[in-house]
Amino acid sequence: MGACVTPLPDPADAAVSAAGWADRLAGASPHAVIAAAAAGFAGRIAAVSSFGTESAVLLHLIAEVDPALPVVFLDTGMLFAETLAYRDALVARLGLADVRTIHPDPADKAAQDPDDALWAENPDACCALRKVIPLARALGPFEAWINGRKRYQATTRTALALAEADGPRVKFNPLASFSRADIAAYMAAHDLPPHPLEKFGFASIGCMPCTSRVQPGEDPRAGRWRGQAKTECGIHIAPSTFIP
Ligand code: SF4
Repeated sequence: MGACVTPLPDPADAAVSAAGWADRLAGASPHAVIAAAAAGFAGRIAAVSSFGTESAVLLHLIAEVDPALPVVFLDTGMLFAETLAYRDALVARLGLADVRTIHPDPADKAAQDPDDALWAENPDACCALRKVIPLARALGPFEAWINGRKRYQATTRTALALAEADGPRVKFNPLASFSRADIAAYMAAHDLPPHPLEKFGFASIGCMPCTSRVQPGEDPRAGRWRGQAKTECGIHIAPSTFIP
């Protein structure tokens, strides 16, 4: 199916609006989903990227649709140096014009995690400090956002819709139906560079202390918070307005 040709009305209610978007976009290509979302929420939509192992696909699609679309990148202060270098390389390669690197609030960080040890004691609090709250602040001006989650990545994502409500916002998941093979094929077709740590066995890359290699047959996200019940940082669980 091709792109939606008629710009959709602005949402008055995120839940109803998201359901409508999901219905209308059923079967649409990732490019078509991004193009429709960018048109429907022109000037009021951002993307969020971790610049991880599969991020180049979403970022390439965004660059094709609108390289000036804002892209929020959460620099938690605990990332691999390779991720920061990969961000810079992809921004240059794709011509992304509005990548916004967001940091934890310095006062919050000094008060809650002065020694960078919170991840070991209370990872949920650490993710709130370094990811959830900074993202909520960064998304303040926007009514909708785009992210790169896929159904295949984890058992917790198997029912992912193309659009869903996120508090007062609509959240688009244009790559929901992409498989691992689809990602690899897209990367190859467009000659996109891999994340520098992928060749060392990292399938899903977040903060350094909470990321480990995955074994063959494991979920790609099995290396995140290994040995803990935690499977998500919270930015896809708590509404994007969540600031405790
Ligand atoms: S992934 Fe780990 S280090 Fe990063 S914010 Fe969450 S708990 Fe902290």
